[in-house]
Amino acid sequence: MSTVAAISTPDAPGGIAVIRISGEQAVDVAEKIFTPVSGKKVSEMPGYTCAYGHAHDADEIIDDCILTVFKAPHSYTGEDTAEISCHGGLFVTKKILRAALKYGAENAPAGEFTKRAYLNGKLDLTQAEAVMDIISARGERELKMAENLRSGAAFRKAEKCSSRLMKLLGDLAAWADYPEEDIPEVEPEYLISELDSIGDELASLVKNYDCGRILRQGIASAIVGRPNVGKSTLFNCLSGCERSIVTDIAGTTRDVVEESVRLGDITLRLSDTAGIRETEDMIEGIGVSIAEKLIGESELIIAVFDGNCPLTEDDAKLLKKINNKKCIAVINKSDLGQNIDIASIKENIQHIVYLSAKENDGVDKLRAAVEDIFSIDENAVSAVTAANERQKNCIDSSLKCVRDASAALKNGEFLDAVNVLIDEAEQFLLELTGKKVTDSVVNEVFSRFCVGK
Ligand code: GDP
Repeated sequence: MSTVAAISTPDAPGGIAVIRISGEQAVDVAEKIFTPVSGKKVSEMPGYTCAYGHAHDADEIIDDCILTVFKAPHSYTGEDTAEISCHGGLFVTKKILRAALKYGAENAPAGEFTKRAYLNGKLDLTQAEAVMDIISARGERELKMAENLRSGAAFRKAEKCSSRLMKLLGDLAAWADYPEEDIPEVEPEYLISELDSIGDELASLVKNYDCGRILRQGIASAIVGRPNVGKSTLFNCLSGCERSIVTDIAGTTRDVVEESVRLGDITLRLSDTAGIRETEDMIEGIGVSIAEKLIGESELIIAVFDGNCPLTEDDAKLLKKINNKKCIAVINKSDLGQNIDIASIKENIQHIVYLSAKENDGVDKLRAAVEDIFSIDENAVSAVTAANERQKNCIDSSLKCVRDASAALKNGEFLDAVNVLIDEAEQFLLELTGKKVTDSVVNEVFSRFCVGK
């Protein structure tokens, strides 16, 4: 493989920056662009050692730097690697990278270092994917889930299922291929109980997928309610800035304002919508129909009511529209007297939260309700689970084959048919861990990485 180089730190000024060079020629390239002040030769540096010196392009000194050398296979990529830590100026780092490219390295595409780590057997595909999740984690729980995966927990669980399936395939093959050897027929009861137990293991790997997905991607949420109940005030209170226009003239919010807000460890991808009510105003009417469409598309509806007023006809219509959706009723204006008919709301919505958006009081209760609805708790966060759609699809497909194989056995079908299903289940698990995966899948996985990782 060629020797590649990239700036591994963000493309912004900082205290320090790191230029990483990896491949057979990494130490050669480093030797040409870095001279230790001690007079030692870079090529003689053992792995896991550093040297202080100058990065240069021929006679031109670029910066004071530290060079760290790693020798294959004891490096992140599994190859010889040199890392130059320099001052974190944009121009300095680019100049050192350019020098590395001039003396033999090639530009590393996005995710190239982690891809090499995978190709050199340092990481399986699920662990490589976790690296990106660790980089993009925005909260404690997200990080915990990614770390779980990077430690190889999902891989080990999948591997265990995979070797149990292999054993079943082996038993079936021995029986089918050597009938004259007097090998006893594989008992269907044994096969069924093994398949059901493997199926349960696989199911546990996808059970908490939604929790992880929600922590990573956030929840598509819509704040709805008739005009003047305090939707924009709540939106602003959650997003911490004045994006929505707050007035007491009904119908102020005419289009949809979108913002991602953090509620504890959860991100709500919030849309503040036009108040839902019957309207004569055409432009506001368009906003209202967008609001209705948003109700259909959102995973969570935050329906806001004015606790200070009795329910209106528009409120009652809204309650009907959001039936069957995951929903929280926010009874706003808790700082004022309460005149709302809460019983009618309770008939339609299970989760009710009293708060004052204006006083920013009670938002914690909203977070607790969201966590409850989406089953986000410490158990789900600690659970070993698929981290993305690719992994989930592999596990789901394998699980389906395992369940189908078990059902086929229970229906008394031939072992040949069962064998094909078990084999297919095994193939999906090999794809999951990257042991048998097409180049296009590998390229797709690493194309989502950043340059330098
Ligand atoms: P929207 O039309 O539903 O978006 O309502 P707004 O957010 O524009 O608020 C309408 C009026 O209610 C404004 O005068 C707000 O100041 C007021 N309001 C909003 N939330 C509260 C609250 O929690 N308490 C009180 N007392 N007034 C509020």
